[in-house]
Amino acid sequence: MILFKNAEVYAPLPMGKKDVLVGGTRIIAIADHIELPVGVEGEVIDATGLKMIPGLIDAHVHIAGAGGEGGPASRTPEIQLSRLLEGGVTSVVGCLGTDGMTRSVESVLMKAKALRHEGVSAWIYTGAYQVPPPTILGDVGKDIAMIEEVIGTGEIALSDHRSSTPTTAELIKLTEHSRVGGMLGGKAGIVNIHMGDAQNPFQPLYDAVALSELKLTQFLPTHCNRNHHIFEEAKTYGKKGYIDITASSYPFFPQYEIKPSKAIVEFLKAGVPLEHITMSSDGCGSLPQFDEKGNLEQLEMGYPKSIFDELKDTVAEEGLELEKALAVITSNVAGILRLPGKGRIVAHNDADLVLIDNDFNIHHLCAMGKMMIKNQKMLQKGTYE
Ligand SMILES: [Zn+2]
Repeated sequence: MILFKNAEVYAPLPMGKKDVLVGGTRIIAIADHIELPVGVEGEVIDATGLKMIPGLIDAHVHIAGAGGEGGPASRTPEIQLSRLLEGGVTSVVGCLGTDGMTRSVESVLMKAKALRHEGVSAWIYTGAYQVPPPTILGDVGKDIAMIEEVIGTGEIALSDHRSSTPTTAELIKLTEHSRVGGMLGGKAGIVNIHMGDAQNPFQPLYDAVALSELKLTQFLPTHCNRNHHIFEEAKTYGKKGYIDITASSYPFFPQYEIKPSKAIVEFLKAGVPLEHITMSSDGCGSLPQFDEKGNLEQLEMGYPKSIFDELKDTVAEEGLELEKALAVITSNVAGILRLPGKGRIVAHNDADLVLIDNDFNIHHLCAMGKMMIKNQKMLQKGTYE
């Protein structure tokens, strides 16, 4: 057992100063005053002066590598455990990207299994940019229904020069299979959309919904802050559907992108409900910059820590309450993607806890009830780190 004493808990809603008892992989109790049961061995951690927040959920990471758009040497490597922990990330959703040709959903699945062995929680999307998408069992619905780690489909590219530009009928069929697979498997079955920067980028989603019984909430379009044009459209779209902000690319393309912390506040000001907003890193994704003729100019790579850095800026620079800023990377994600036991500090949920000081330094991190960072020292590293 682990007993955290006197932490200021943000669950993400503020609960005040509490003691939090962890046993096995779960949170056992949260109360004003808890002592370790007599005769039970356990560790007591004094959390005085620290805030306890839920472990962050990064729901769009190319965990098995991505990229390759600048030739073989531009392929990005797999994620390492420390890259998640340094950003307070205890849950991750992996996906393929542009390269559904030389990379496979199988490799993403096995990387998710590896990350689970290393101590964090991991799921995946089946598919890639292309439609029809690569799958493991031959159909996105079958993958979602029958493979425990698969929770949805993605990232499907729309409105982008790298998209296979699915017809409305193809997009409806794919989304319907994803939804039914989700119903059969008890999952969200959501379709994660790579939103490109073509004219009227959200139009394919509006069309799919207009010509079917699907709802916009069956989609989770990402990169909604990638340029001012998409950002403005997302303010309207986000009132009915979910929108995901990408955190890692802004520092490389500040001339095009909306800073994620600003995007959160601007979306709220525009009337987008907080529950509709999520933020992910696009970690391990290559960040290509093309010139006017479509030639590759520059490649960078993203990291999960970007969502933690933007959390800090949303609070420290934009002045948003911590509980609201936290929701977009904890409870909202767990709710939209239906990740059981995640995203909130409540009894019986998984013990994914991060303890930070007022300057957003991570002092302790507990994932599935195991201390991974203690007194600012990383105790656990990936198998090959
Ligand atoms: Zn993408």
